[in-house]
Parts: sequence; structure tokens; C-alpha cells
Amino acid sequence: MSALRVLVVEDDPLNVELATFVLEEAAFVVDTVAEATEVLAKVAAFRPDLVLMDIQLPGGDGLTLTRALKADPATRGVVVVAFTAHAMKGDRARLLAAGCDAYIAKPIDVAAFAGQVRAAAAAGQASS
Ligand code: MN
Repeated sequence: MSALRVLVVEDDPLNVELATFVLEEAAFVVDTVAEATEVLAKVAAFRPDLVLMDIQLPGGDGLTLTRALKADPATRGVVVVAFTAHAMKGDRARLLAAGCDAYIAKPIDVAAFAGQVRAAAAAGQASS
């Protein structure tokens, strides 16, 4: 099985650094992008299995990007995991309605994070 490719879409440098560190320790291949306007080009170039999608980004928002990814046959199969501190029930429904396959809360639980990402990838790929 080849290494899981994860694109971290996040504008907080500390979150980017921590997520990248933990995922690379788990032997995932990681790339990052902070600007909403650069996300679709980065997905096309990097071809991730899974996108960890911050919702509030400079230049746009993660839910609009998620809808765009899920509307495009070329990227529909990419698993999108909302990556946000918005943990309220209504927000969760809103994330799923936009096409997010799963949800991981910030701040990262360092001990659990890689397993959460791996589980989301497995579940998302099974259902697509
Ligand atoms: Mn943000």
C-alpha cells in the first residue's frame, strides 16, 4: 500500500507545523497550502488522497472549496476532512452538507491525530 497523501489546508503556521510533523511521523506524504485561492491548483498538482480543510482561510472559505472539489469529477474522490474549532452541532451538519466526509477538531490531539486521519481516509474512500 502506498503512503497516504495528505494536503493540509490551514493558515495558522503553528497548526500547519504541528499537523505536518505528526503526519510525517506517521509516514504520510504531506503538502501544505494556506491561501484559499491556491488550494485547487495545489490539489491538481499534489493529487492528495485526503485534504485536511480549515474552514476560515485568507482569500476564501473551506466549505466553498469543498463544494468545488466535490463538484469536479476529477477531485470528487478526494476525502475532505473539515479541520476546525467549530464543534457545535449545527456547524457539524453544515460541514457535512457542504460535502466534507469527516471532521477533526482543533486543537490537534497529538496522540490521536494520525489515527483519526487514517480512519477518515479509509471511511471516505470506502464510500466514494
Ligand atoms: Mn484558519
